[in-house]
Amino acid sequence: MQIEIAKNCGFCFGVRRAVKIAQKASGASTIGELIHNNLEIKRLQTECNVKTLKSIDELTNEKTAIIRTHGITKNDLGKLSQKDIKIIDATCPFVTKPQKIAADMSAAGYEIVYFGDKEHPEAKSVASYATNRVHIVLSTDELENIKLSNKIALISQTTKKIEKYSALVVYLMKRAKEVRVFNTICNATLENQEAAEELARRADIMIVIGGKNSSNTKQLFLISKSLCKDSYHIENADELQKQWFINKKLCGITAGASTPEWIIENIAKTIKNFS
Ligand code: SF4
Repeated sequence: MQIEIAKNCGFCFGVRRAVKIAQKASGASTIGELIHNNLEIKRLQTECNVKTLKSIDELTNEKTAIIRTHGITKNDLGKLSQKDIKIIDATCPFVTKPQKIAADMSAAGYEIVYFGDKEHPEAKSVASYATNRVHIVLSTDELENIKLSNKIALISQTTKKIEKYSALVVYLMKRAKEVRVFNTICNATLENQEAAEELARRADIMIVIGGKNSSNTKQLFLISKSLCKDSYHIENADELQKQWFINKKLCGITAGASTPEWIIENIAKTIKNFS
């Protein structure tokens, strides 16, 4: 069986940058998970002495706090700034940008529609910068019974698919006189999605690696599954099952933006040993 790793997959610019920052900050604590990958978070703790806290409330005697890749809410940043603690901001610049758009556009009188998952830290952090009404939605249905203003600014979570975002644009054009659309979808995500799509079309089996809570990994899995029915989403090599690979000629591998190379290599090696 041939094994092929997608042309673009794994660590994106923002995650690589955050991990580099954390590696140099021994003794620091991150507010929330730095990135969506449990194994890499454990490695940072054991090898680099960087702890993960669930929230600001868990801070005790820490001297340094790291803000995770997806950012924190404006309110939390305010609380953190009042503490006697050094703040290292590892927020991805592609997340800082929509935060600023939310602030600027609401100051200019626009109501914000944010295309994203309500519970996702990135959605919460970006929405928190809006001073006007903000609606976090995943489909047009959620806006159906809401009276919208005539001035809408539309922002997307960085990991979303452009086709679905475009559908929201068309819908809002029918609901408001003025719609400002910001393309805040991250290229790294798009590149990983396109490479996964290309590979999934040819593969007999697709292994999608990444945190079960990682939004961009879930997207990669959905894309793979739609083109290759034998697609599996795993976090580590222990989850692989030998029988998945029986009679398969090409095994494609892709990985979410928070998956480090060492995990991808480890999984590729394990699969190779099956054949
Ligand atoms: S996927 Fe894009 S927005 Fe998210 S951390 Fe990576 S580079 Fe930043």
